[in-house]
Amino acid sequence: MAQMSPQVRPIRSKENFLVFGKPTIEEPEIAEVVDSLRKGWLGTGPKVAKLEREFAAYKGVPQAVAVHSCTAALHLSLLAAGLKPGDEVITTPLTFCATVNSILHAGATPVLADVDRRTMNLDPEKVEKAITPRTRALLPVHFAGRPCDMDALVDIARRKGLVLIEDCAHAIETEYKGKKAGTFGDFGCFSFYATKNMTTGEGGMALAKSDELASRLKMLALHGMSKDAWKRFSDDGYKHYQVVELGFKYNMMDLQAAIGLHQLPRIERWLTRRAEVWAAYDRAFAGLPVELPAAPEPNTRHALHLYTLLVDERRSKVSRDQFLTAMTQHNIGVGVHYMSVPEHPYYQRALGWKPEDCPHAMEIGRRTVSLPLSAGLTDGDVADVIAAVKSIL
Ligand SMILES: *Cc1c(COP(=O)(O)O)cnc(C)c1O
Repeated sequence: MAQMSPQVRPIRSKENFLVFGKPTIEEPEIAEVVDSLRKGWLGTGPKVAKLEREFAAYKGVPQAVAVHSCTAALHLSLLAAGLKPGDEVITTPLTFCATVNSILHAGATPVLADVDRRTMNLDPEKVEKAITPRTRALLPVHFAGRPCDMDALVDIARRKGLVLIEDCAHAIETEYKGKKAGTFGDFGCFSFYATKNMTTGEGGMALAKSDELASRLKMLALHGMSKDAWKRFSDDGYKHYQVVELGFKYNMMDLQAAIGLHQLPRIERWLTRRAEVWAAYDRAFAGLPVELPAAPEPNTRHALHLYTLLVDERRSKVSRDQFLTAMTQHNIGVGVHYMSVPEHPYYQRALGWKPEDCPHAMEIGRRTVSLPLSAGLTDGDVADVIAAVKSIL
């Protein structure tokens, strides 16, 4: 641990701290936001409608529903699935808390199935074992952008008559055997949070299997008001609206969509850049005492959202938390995706969960470190990350 001493010489200067997950914001989205501000139409309007059309076209589906977060998309999808108290939803322990929270907010009971140690995605065999007579839905997460084993999960959902909701927060560009993530089951939920592969600041999108379900999501996202309530302020005459269900305030603003409209067309180019960074990391770290991300499965497309190292304390003599601290001392931002959900006191208290119940997720969560992987990284940034990792290990 000599290199962890206070005299550590940082790889980068303090002013130059490499922010983890920094979004790439360019002039067109700045101009588009200014345009919304000048026109005075800030809320849900034509730019949201345009982003919905363009995202649906990108995914090759008839329609998409913009909301203010992926969490909102998950919550509404679970409600639209018609879950009742006591209904169980099987999900992964290796995810952001929002996945599990949305199940609880929908009034259902989350049930965890452990992940596959290599892919870090839900293990279909563990899912099968977690099914009870009360199971109503599956909520897989395409972790880091790697598609889940959708053949197996779709098969389970069909056989058992379960609703399938995909958490695609990492998986905008993800494909599995030529089919796009978010189009396998009943609902697909996407995030445009600041650190995701494209951003609207806060924001999200939901896909639904049918027009009826999509309309239901749209209505629930805006107070339960009848269709296209935003049009009532337009210039073709006043229109009355009716509240037909108890809904939420989950709509996306035009100010947010203004950013997304210019991010979405760059998403493929950015993926290409992240693939270069990914390959550079793979080459640089091949001989180090760490575990690198598994290669993508054949006939799939990995969205390369997170590059995760698993620190092997016995071989490197550096604990994961020492590694995190040391990277920060080198002025390089890092992340942890994720401490497994049962590590958090709330779930232990409310649901009686223990980390040991999902040993693979527990082990990954205690060893994992996410390195910077934004498309905006320069070659110099990548070289600095590599130099820092090598000097620590
Ligand atoms: C980011 C994230 C969410 C939540 O997305 P928001 O848009 O911030 O609500 C949900 N699930 C996973 C796996 C995420 O990474």
